[in-house]
Amino acid sequence: MKFENITIVVAMEAEARPVIEELKLKEDLSYCPGMPMRGWIGQYRGIKLSLVINGKDPETNLDLIGTQAATLATDYAIKHYSPQLIVNMGTAGAFGENGSQIGDVYLSRDYVVFHDRRVPITGWDKQSIGYFKVWDAEELALKENFKTGIVTTSNSLDMPPIDEENIRNLGGEIKEMEAAAVAWVARLHSTPLFCVKAVTDLVDSGIPTEEEFRKNLNLATSNLKDAIVKVLNYLAD
Ligand code: SAH
Repeated sequence: MKFENITIVVAMEAEARPVIEELKLKEDLSYCPGMPMRGWIGQYRGIKLSLVINGKDPETNLDLIGTQAATLATDYAIKHYSPQLIVNMGTAGAFGENGSQIGDVYLSRDYVVFHDRRVPITGWDKQSIGYFKVWDAEELALKENFKTGIVTTSNSLDMPPIDEENIRNLGGEIKEMEAAAVAWVARLHSTPLFCVKAVTDLVDSGIPTEEEFRKNLNLATSNLKDAIVKVLNYLAD
């Protein structure tokens, strides 16, 4: 599959930096002026590349995370760059009991879901969870030895029992805070999407997620950078 125009959507600057440096991307100040979101552009083996991040919250001066910022970043990116494919890249939690390890890189499989939307009314139950189909990356996963899993999204870093129950019922393997929002916007624009997620924490380890996240962020983002190069080589061929 040959793609010529790809946008990488990332939440945090720390997740994006190694990729921006590796691919020598240049900041594009015309992406989203006046808003916190930021964009970079470049070329890789004939692919026109763009990468966007949520940017910083003007109130706290911390990176924006979660679904609202990801929704805006994705919508602006599709309108500005008209990508043929969106790659949602980032860090995530996973389950040790599924054999996941810190630093593993997963590609999304089947669909992306929201795991914190509980609406027991026929029709709205499905709509709330989303079931956003992802681009089939099985061949790529096999070729490059990536794991694959169902990615599940909420706006919380923790995992209260009701969320855990939902994640288990949905078959969720990768837990994070943006993918379903990115996938929803991509679907509205009929733009194919898949996710590349590196594991910073094991949600069933008993260690507080924020501790594991901080400790393993460098390892995970470095693995993400290596993974993105493999992904782009595959998409360029
Ligand atoms: N900036 C904070 C932590 C943010 S963690 C700090 O430095 O402490 C949240 C980000 O990492 C989100 O963008 C989310 O997509 C991802 N993430 C990593 N592990 C996660 C988990 N177990 N649950 C939910 N989101 C997770």
